[in-house]
Amino acid sequence: MLDTLPLLKAISFPGIRRKQLDILQINLGYRCNQQCQHCHVNAGPKRTEAMTAEVLTDTLRFIKNNGIKTVDLTGGAPEMHPEFLSLIKQLNAMQVHIIDRCNLTILNEPGYESLAETLAENCVEIVASMPCYMEENVDKQRGSGVFKSSIDALQKLNQLGYGQPDSSLTLNLVYNPQGAVLVPSQEMLETDYKKFLDEQFGIIFNELFTITNVPVKRFGSLLLSRQEFHPYMKLLQQSHSDANLEGVMCRYQLSVDWQGYLYDCDFNQMLGLPLTGTTEKLHISNVSLAELDKKDIIVAGHCYACTAGQGSSCGGALS
Ligand code: SF4
Ligand code: SF4
Repeated sequence: MLDTLPLLKAISFPGIRRKQLDILQINLGYRCNQQCQHCHVNAGPKRTEAMTAEVLTDTLRFIKNNGIKTVDLTGGAPEMHPEFLSLIKQLNAMQVHIIDRCNLTILNEPGYESLAETLAENCVEIVASMPCYMEENVDKQRGSGVFKSSIDALQKLNQLGYGQPDSSLTLNLVYNPQGAVLVPSQEMLETDYKKFLDEQFGIIFNELFTITNVPVKRFGSLLLSRQEFHPYMKLLQQSHSDANLEGVMCRYQLSVDWQGYLYDCDFNQMLGLPLTGTTEKLHISNVSLAELDKKDIIVAGHCYACTAGQGSSCGGALS
């Protein structure tokens, strides 16, 4: 695997500072039933990293002590963590809004037959990967058969009330480009997705989030091997908009890894750039929000993926 970190560190990015924390993003581990080309985590079926019971307890304590209102569960496939169901039940009982970053196909895997119902029972918002509405493109990026399985999963979620106009169960989809290009207009793409998925499969959903591919880990390595890294970085830098700096997600979110260490965002986590910018990592068991207030964020070349064009975050476009 080729590493983009030295190249990214050599690229400067405007300084930004943390604001009030709205969301804690919890990476439960790197195991996934898929192994997608664009994955910035290097997740896959053979990964074994998973948050320990001790770190889960530390994380729940941090949420309680700091009055965190929203958690965003990610991975890998977060649902593959052995304590996933117990965790969402505890968070729901604490009246914390839960977002599950779901790859959809996990809902059809053996042993996960009742997962969709449990997500609905615990009012979990689903943010589901659906990088295109064309079967060929999805299978190319995410693996053979992924499109059909994703359609089945979306239909199952709709039947449970997800995405329905009179329901509180939210179903948002995520689009990311097939390669080293910027995302198209989120608004226009959402209209196309809604029309196609409804007409072809009777599927409805709430919003489409467009997310720019970030040149780290598997995707970064792919770019380097294809000699596409530098042209892609140039495209991102030329498309940078200062207006997007206000809304980049690291200003309002915090990312915790499976070992309990804190980062400004999931991408910094994958690059091994700890929150403090020093080699000494901060652990969720011994940090308070007050310590993080207005702290500088660790930035490098990959940050242009968040500010290029209409901007990009876990919640889609910024402008
Ligand atoms: S992109 Fe998502 S679904 Fe694909 S391998 Fe990575 S974590 Fe799994
Ligand atoms: S990559 Fe992370 S640190 Fe950089 S701007 Fe985006 S969210 Fe912030």
